Amino acid sequence: MSDNGHKTIEIPTTVTIRDLATMIDISPIDIIKQLMANGVMANINQQIDYDTAAIIIGEFGYEAKPSAPPESDLEKEAKELPRWRQLIADEDPEALVDRPPVVTVLGHVDHGKTTLLDAIRATNVAGGEAGGITQHISAYQVEHNGRKITFLDTPGHAAFTAMRARGAQGADIAVLVVAADDGVMPQTREAIAHIKAAQVPVLVAMNKMDRPSANPDKVKQELADAGLIPDEWEGDTMVVPVSAKEQEGLDDLLEAITLVADSTEIKANPKGRVLGTVIEGELDRSRGVVAALLVQNGTLELGDTLLVGTAHGNVRAMFDFQGNAVEEATPSMPVSVLGLSSVPRAGELFTVVESDREARDIAEERAEEAVSASRKPVAAQTLEQIFEAFQAGEVQELRLVVKADVQGSLEPITSSLEKLSAGEIKVNILHSGTGNISKDDVMLAAASGGIVIGFNVAAEQGAKMTADAEGVDIRVYDIIYRLTEDIEKALKGMLEPEIRKVSLGKASVRAVFRIPRVGNIAGCIVTEGELRRNADAQVIRDGEIIFEGPVASLKHEKEDVREIREGFECGIGLRGFDDFEEGDIIECFTEETVPVI
Ligand code: GDP
Repeated sequence: MSDNGHKTIEIPTTVTIRDLATMIDISPIDIIKQLMANGVMANINQQIDYDTAAIIIGEFGYEAKPSAPPESDLEKEAKELPRWRQLIADEDPEALVDRPPVVTVLGHVDHGKTTLLDAIRATNVAGGEAGGITQHISAYQVEHNGRKITFLDTPGHAAFTAMRARGAQGADIAVLVVAADDGVMPQTREAIAHIKAAQVPVLVAMNKMDRPSANPDKVKQELADAGLIPDEWEGDTMVVPVSAKEQEGLDDLLEAITLVADSTEIKANPKGRVLGTVIEGELDRSRGVVAALLVQNGTLELGDTLLVGTAHGNVRAMFDFQGNAVEEATPSMPVSVLGLSSVPRAGELFTVVESDREARDIAEERAEEAVSASRKPVAAQTLEQIFEAFQAGEVQELRLVVKADVQGSLEPITSSLEKLSAGEIKVNILHSGTGNISKDDVMLAAASGGIVIGFNVAAEQGAKMTADAEGVDIRVYDIIYRLTEDIEKALKGMLEPEIRKVSLGKASVRAVFRIPRVGNIAGCIVTEGELRRNADAQVIRDGEIIFEGPVASLKHEKEDVREIREGFECGIGLRGFDDFEEGDIIECFTEETVPVI
């Protein structure tokens, strides 16, 4: 009941008259009459808006209250605590102390994320890199008014999302970079969606304030429209004007970060269970596996036994972000660690276990699980699958990351791709740029359900591996019209994967046997590779293919065999072919979908 004694009813933003009548248990006819009395003609199935519904039910002695909108997937996801927070939920609240906030920088491409991170590092990190390790950790720590702040140095929601995809949450605070001369752009909106999903407090760095075309008021309005209401407009989003290029406003930004940190619980137990998140991992030729780790609880010490996914090992050496050797790492400290058995993936959670044996056992168990999981088809994002999703109405956008060798070819490609948007289905170019396809390009596509298109460029090794791991399609072209043709086909659903025959091996026919009720069998010797029973075969006579069809039987000395290798004799039967002759060549092959790169 509300204060005035009216019964309160939750009403959605729109409601049909029929539903509204049910809600207040009144005949729809009475509602229609009431509407008519208010000058609105409506039938029983018509939708009326919240305000109208509120007035009408008011007449019947009810009070309206907006009902919560249905939860989006992102919002649902947000309700689940990130895994590491669940793990530290067991920590004794008394033992929790403040730790430095971990900040991630997101925003639309070219709005200045990298420049901002570089500027903060350059103006706030004393002494530069010590060079104990040449490795660059993608995180650094600065001090502002005696308080530390950790920055994750991989800007963009791809990295952020990769972490979240693995149940980790690297950042406590998000800085959304918006260029003052460009405003809220598609990736700004995506970043906002990701930040909201992660329930991470956000503040805005309004960058490029040095530009004459900067229009802060317009940008603030756009931010408000996108759900981030500036604090000076009574909202709760701090908007800090900066120029990364001129290194202006950076102190204000750091100050704002500490203010946001103060209003959030950013705590850990330095004496508690050691856990954190992998920032990145790589294999170094001379040092072996180098893993950049962000400690989120407890204190990681030299000699500790680490367990990360299927990787394990003792911490042999540890370096801070400047390359200084350190013996321990406290919460929110990024460190580079040597000693793991294999390269861990960014976003994986690490813990410290009691013994090497325990680490090995758990790691092996996980490796076995991973092998059985890998037998299942991966959720790849190929053009074909994206088209299926179009047809099923699941997506209306083909999201692309486009890389080309030179600016001159990039522009015609992006403009012709954009022109392909047809009807409901749009081409959305998440990012375009020159240079080889990098891991970041792949992660951006992965986080957004897109694919990567290259023109006259190659995919870097790391990019290929990431694409395999994340199931992202990379397509490389050297002729523009082929590229646009493929995308057009994908949009129209006509894309057929190219199938290539891959030869498995050859055999030469030495004799022909007649088997009653079965037909002719060719007695052969395998001269190259192997023949397989579940494969297709061609019969080649005088250099010409005279038959092509599936292998019906394959025997070695009367035993059915699945395959037979070079140098061995076999009897082979082909379905639909009987006319073997001595001297024929039988070649076995499989069909493979042509790898795009
Ligand atoms: P990112 O894609 O968001 O990482 O953007 P970058 O940091 O690479 O910056 C994109 C471009 O904007 C570069 O040419 C920068 O030099 C330029 N830029 C970045 N910050 C500023 C700024 O504060 N003022 C001006 N005028 N240019 C900037």
